[in-house]
Amino acid sequence: MKSLHTVKSSAGQKARDNGKSEAAAEKPSRTDAEKAVRTLLQWAGDDPDREGLLGTPDRVVRAFDEWFAGYSVDPVDLLKRTFEEIEGYDEMIVLRDVRFESHCEHHIAPIIGKVHIAYLPDRRVIGISKLARLVEVYAKRLQIQEKMTAQIANTLNDVLLPKGVAVVIEGQHQCMTTRGIHKPGVTMVTSRMLGAFREDQATRREFLSIIGNPTSTPAGD
Ligand SMILES: [Zn+2]
Repeated sequence: MKSLHTVKSSAGQKARDNGKSEAAAEKPSRTDAEKAVRTLLQWAGDDPDREGLLGTPDRVVRAFDEWFAGYSVDPVDLLKRTFEEIEGYDEMIVLRDVRFESHCEHHIAPIIGKVHIAYLPDRRVIGISKLARLVEVYAKRLQIQEKMTAQIANTLNDVLLPKGVAVVIEGQHQCMTTRGIHKPGVTMVTSRMLGAFREDQATRREFLSIIGNPTSTPAGD
């Protein structure tokens, strides 16, 4: 619980929202969603009735099912099965370069990058595929990178109760490269350090060196 007290921002508040949102209850019908895409096609200046666009509303809605599949998975349930027989292993566990694809909540534009996760186990460990799935559950939602960083770290910390958790995300935001200030090649780096990774410089340094020392700005503070 200690880590939660360090979270002050509204992004951090939402980081604790592990379940389904209230919005799920008032989900529009698929037909309504397709109509909305049709409206956007018209807004863009095209004719949704021309042959090439006839199937587009259906395809976009199906793409949304994939891009935002994370809303239908509870990340806490996902992590529930942990392994307690770890033969006294108490060294850092690092999963490096987990590719993710997400969408920014301001423009619904892709954010693509990689996540590095580390934790110091305290009696319990978790399968590495579960860590990768955790990244996916949060990535497949509308996101801001800072929030996603805090969500992954906090969920892992709350469920696994390790001695420490570190999450660093390197992301490229297409809302920055294809519109607005048009700055391609810029990578945003966010990090969240909890427990030993926050308190012990040597632990943090070891982790950062393993992942190649991306320059980071703290997330969720
Ligand atoms: Zn954006």
